[in-house]
Amino acid sequence: MSRSTDDRPTANDRTTSTRRRLLATGAAVSTGAVIGCAAPVGANTAPRTPFTVPGVGIPIVGSDMVFPVRRIYCIGRNYAAHAREMGSDPTREPPFFFQKPTDAIQLVAPGQVADHPYPTLTKNYHYEVELVVALGKGGRSIAAAQALEHVFGYSLGLDMTRRDLQRAMGDEKKPWEIGKSFDKSAPVGPIHPVAQVGHFLDGAIWLKVNGQTKQNATLKHMIWSVAEQIARLSEAFELMPGDIIYSGTPENVGPVVRGDVIEIHIDRLPNLSVRIV
Ligand code: MN
Repeated sequence: MSRSTDDRPTANDRTTSTRRRLLATGAAVSTGAVIGCAAPVGANTAPRTPFTVPGVGIPIVGSDMVFPVRRIYCIGRNYAAHAREMGSDPTREPPFFFQKPTDAIQLVAPGQVADHPYPTLTKNYHYEVELVVALGKGGRSIAAAQALEHVFGYSLGLDMTRRDLQRAMGDEKKPWEIGKSFDKSAPVGPIHPVAQVGHFLDGAIWLKVNGQTKQNATLKHMIWSVAEQIARLSEAFELMPGDIIYSGTPENVGPVVRGDVIEIHIDRLPNLSVRIV
């Protein structure tokens, strides 16, 4: 990541202090490991661990707090024109979801151009701009009418994709994990609390590469709204505070190469930029 020229803390600095803070409590995580069950974070006694694993947090705008990430869910083919370009029928079939590991998060600070590494193994590396939804409240079988009450805030991000590997695995009817769920595959900006920005039912979403518009759509064109996504997800999984949802990308996904600069926009959120290196 590039650094700003002044002395304000950068996203990297904040990430580091976030990690330190999470590490301070994170040592308690493994209590239950030896008996095969998960132990809660923040237990009173901190068991010894042979090494430390940093937690993942996203800065919260207007606060010195970070949003602790529990799970990253992503919805597939949630804009009709994108579903068509991926070769599927955009009629309203049930939505489908996949996950990325939490440490796929790459924090991107507005006003800076973050270096994003071109990953190994691919020759067709694609961008997908998406509205990112951060949950502050969990639940099971959440009704769509109440679902937005579970949203803590919003950001924008990229669901970066090794398209060639995703397609190859799909063709072979194998999990497409290697195409979607790799290191740094989830660049994301700081989270804007609902209290400050409201909800995102409509508004422009676009992506440029080297200043040229590639994706350009409106959030209203989602097949499954954010509320419906939360409702559907909560039927399959118990949702928890800390879960985030990448809500799908519009049409005209495409490749980038080293040196390209991607800029992404959603109305009412600051733009983000990454340079592929
Ligand atoms: Mn996507």
